Amino acid sequence: MSKEFLPFTRPSIDEETIAGVAEVLRSGWISSGPQVRDFEARLSAYFGGRPVRTLSSATGALEIGLALAGVGAGDEVITTPLSWVATANVIVRAGARPVFVDVDAQTRNIDVALVEAAVTPRTRALLPVDLAGLPVDRGRLNAIARAHRLRVVEDAAQSMGASWQGERIGAIGDLVSISFHANKNLTTAEGGCLVVNDADEARQCELWRLQGVERFADGNLDVTLAGGKHNMTDIAARIGIGQLARLEEFNARRHALARHYFECFDRSLGCELPVEDFTNSNWHMFQIVLPSQVERGAFIAQMQAAGIGVGVHYPAIHLLTLYRQMGFRPGEFPIAEHIGRGIATLPLFPAMETEDVERVCEQAARTLKALSGRPRAASRSAR
Ligand SMILES: *Cc1c(COP(=O)(O)O)cnc(C)c1O
Repeated sequence: MSKEFLPFTRPSIDEETIAGVAEVLRSGWISSGPQVRDFEARLSAYFGGRPVRTLSSATGALEIGLALAGVGAGDEVITTPLSWVATANVIVRAGARPVFVDVDAQTRNIDVALVEAAVTPRTRALLPVDLAGLPVDRGRLNAIARAHRLRVVEDAAQSMGASWQGERIGAIGDLVSISFHANKNLTTAEGGCLVVNDADEARQCELWRLQGVERFADGNLDVTLAGGKHNMTDIAARIGIGQLARLEEFNARRHALARHYFECFDRSLGCELPVEDFTNSNWHMFQIVLPSQVERGAFIAQMQAAGIGVGVHYPAIHLLTLYRQMGFRPGEFPIAEHIGRGIATLPLFPAMETEDVERVCEQAARTLKALSGRPRAASRSAR
């Protein structure tokens, strides 16, 4: 695909899955039904037998996770300023206040060493994010949660198939939210799931995801909480079943391509590369931070003109208008701000060819040299 436009990501949906979806469409039952139950059983097996409930998005999973954790008005939730805005929006929507803690410059995840100092009597939960599929240190994070009796609602949206010290993300931890959005390592087009601790939480999750409705054998129903509408369709679940069967293969391919990026990317260009983690990460994204003298908009435009898609994941959340209106200010989380200004997501998806990585690296080098004016300056190589 060397001459075609190379997007930064693209889902891999096989013919068997497409045929399976067609079967669901012809079956007469297209909303939540047997495919959802089947997908949930497979997910539960994947997560070591823990109860799992599918949802129409991970945003919904986070909202329900916060509800199960008892987060409400006046509470504080500690999280990262460097994530998709859903991470913080769900806290605001719960009536709580996001308490941002700056990220670590290498992992780009919440700096676990700074978390404890952010705990107050109002803190109810920790909401960590595994940016690009590189897991936050679960050992240290969960120890802080235990010491302060906090719930942990993991925004593991990007870390399907990642692990922490040999244990699968989702198979460990408290409440774990995972996304099946079109760009994620496993997709159902839109969708997500919440891994919970026990049957009672699973039941509560079912209420929160569908209007709080409880149905009885005699046909009557009752409602005890104002649930939302977050159920997954059988159409989506059937896509997920096809994807789950290939997840290991997809993630192995992502690993191989990421390794090739490290082999090919010119380290003298002054970019910050991601952590070279080939044990825990699922390589959801390969992200570089551009040298500060390079204007990201120009880099993206020139890469685009050369047939290569580059994404931005993500600008720092606290600098978005809503969060500035809540009182957050530039300069509060300088590492997240630096990364948020310069981060660029290079193409990485299972159907990519090895040569595509080489093409991206060569074009990035040409573009960066043109934009930075001083190619290969020694002073810029050490960062
Ligand atoms: C994708 C994503 C979400 C939201 O997932 P949806 O399924 O789109 O609702 C939340 N947090 C992070 C870090 C994400 O990457």
